[in-house]
Amino acid sequence: MALLLRQTFQTAFRPFKLSTILSSQYSAFSSCRILNSPQPPSDAASDRDAMRRERRRKRHIERCQNDSEFREKELERARAYHKMRKAKDTEWRREHLLAPTRRRLENIRADPSLYQAYLAKSAAFFHKYRLEQPRYRWRIALYGWFNRNKDHLSQFTWKRWEPIYYPEKVERTCAACGELRLSGTKLWFRRKSSDSASDSQHEYDCFPCYAFSDWSSIAPIQTMGKYRFFEPRNPELIAVRDSLKSPKSAQQEDPK
Ligand SMILES: [Zn+2]
Repeated sequence: MALLLRQTFQTAFRPFKLSTILSSQYSAFSSCRILNSPQPPSDAASDRDAMRRERRRKRHIERCQNDSEFREKELERARAYHKMRKAKDTEWRREHLLAPTRRRLENIRADPSLYQAYLAKSAAFFHKYRLEQPRYRWRIALYGWFNRNKDHLSQFTWKRWEPIYYPEKVERTCAACGELRLSGTKLWFRRKSSDSASDSQHEYDCFPCYAFSDWSSIAPIQTMGKYRFFEPRNPELIAVRDSLKSPKSAQQEDPK
């Protein structure tokens, strides 16, 4: 859950860094030129190339600063590029998104006043976000049930999954949404259709995919027992739960 909170916070607070994008594009461009050139450039030619690139980079940044229309187009292009790399290139994502984020957090933690300000800003943001997003509250509350009952999950049986709460975060790709959970999560839902497969062949769904499935799949088969399953009392959360009921599962639960 800490990861979910952190990711959402980072996405919301981190401004789009145009200079980072532009510099990565320039370095990629220059690498290509070096790789494609038949002869290694001489030192003088290499220096001239470097100066030309630097002049071009500065002109580009100046234009971005002074021409709002151009800046918007560049941002649009950079966002599309980031989205494509993020989807297709795991190692790029690890190096360019995850590692800088971790470094930034380490720097913040190293400075007590900065860290306090960060925590205060984070708390204010999530307080507002929880109020505005019932589906997010639903996810947190349901995750809380699994966290509290992680040692008793064998008491329950689910129709489609066997939930597994690992002691450490496990990095996997969700079979439902295809998203690679890059820094890992502790709770995964192993699909029952692959029970006979070896561990490497099992398919796993991530927690958000489980949490927004049909309610008849989310709830354990035996909802009574020593440990009660998640029962929201907040009207907004009840509305979220009801929105997850398929007509068929709603009829099964309430035959009237
Ligand atoms: Zn998923």
